[in-house]
Amino acid sequence: MGIAHDANILYGNAPAGFYIHSIEKVKNLETRKPGEADIVDSHIHILPPGRMRGLVRWVKKFLPQHATSEEITPDEILAQDAAQGVGTFFNMVFPLWEKETEELNLFSRDIAERYDNVVGFGSLHLETPGKDAVAERCVTEYGLAGIKLHPYAQRFEVFSPALDPLYRKLNELGRPFAVHTGFDAFYGQTQDLDRLRLILERYDRMPVVLVHSLFPRFEMAYKLMCEHQQLYLDMTNVLSSIRWYREWPDNWLEQAEGTEIERNLDYFYELFEKFSNRIMFGTDHPVGMGQPADIYADLDWFDFGDDVKADLLGRTARSFLEEHCKPL
Ligand SMILES: [Zn+2]
Repeated sequence: MGIAHDANILYGNAPAGFYIHSIEKVKNLETRKPGEADIVDSHIHILPPGRMRGLVRWVKKFLPQHATSEEITPDEILAQDAAQGVGTFFNMVFPLWEKETEELNLFSRDIAERYDNVVGFGSLHLETPGKDAVAERCVTEYGLAGIKLHPYAQRFEVFSPALDPLYRKLNELGRPFAVHTGFDAFYGQTQDLDRLRLILERYDRMPVVLVHSLFPRFEMAYKLMCEHQQLYLDMTNVLSSIRWYREWPDNWLEQAEGTEIERNLDYFYELFEKFSNRIMFGTDHPVGMGQPADIYADLDWFDFGDDVKADLLGRTARSFLEEHCKPL
């Protein structure tokens, strides 16, 4: 199957001007109320310069018109996002090789120390020895909120017994585990979702954030949200994708995934109806599906009620921090 690794497959022929702010979008941003100014962006990437360059190069393979420079600095990333009213940022790192693990965790700590509005997450690799000790060091010594893994970029099965020491430790500490899920067609990968169910049952004191909300398996996400109170969803990239699908369904060229989105749409909307107090939203800046203004305009495109929007724009993330990430 010739899937993934080509933006035209995932995003079809999105209009060429997609990244140019329309008048409507600018108007939306200007009418954002002052009370909304303290948005929590639950998903950004500040990485060391070499990794940042690699990540930007990667995103430009799929979205050549992406405005981010390979040389973007942490100050610029935060300032561009802050210009949209973001006041708190969850920063995600992930080692591509085991040997990168410790330096990245130290980097994440340093960024969170330098910017007091950045909440840092640690990470590790399948091959990292002593995963429990690494996780414990991240949250107790480095002051990081929890652990985030991106198994598709890191290329391993995350819902695997090999990661049990990590889950056991996070469960013991009551600290969050954020994990990339979904966008399988884009990555050309799958993950063991049966074992995800088992992990949620077995480690029920570990708050879990399904980053990208299993896109587009919203029926499954809905069922898991019903069954597991410790479960959160992060809608980063999902809202833009659904908007793109709704506006240009014929351009979603990965047909099988288009069908799957359609089949799950009712559950997508139902998730916000029932569970917005456990749903967060972020930009993936500086490598998201557009600049922060575009991402927040995509949120505005949905006619969510005030409560749902307040949850997505920060209320959920704030209560998540309060309940699960206080210093130990
Ligand atoms: Zn990301």
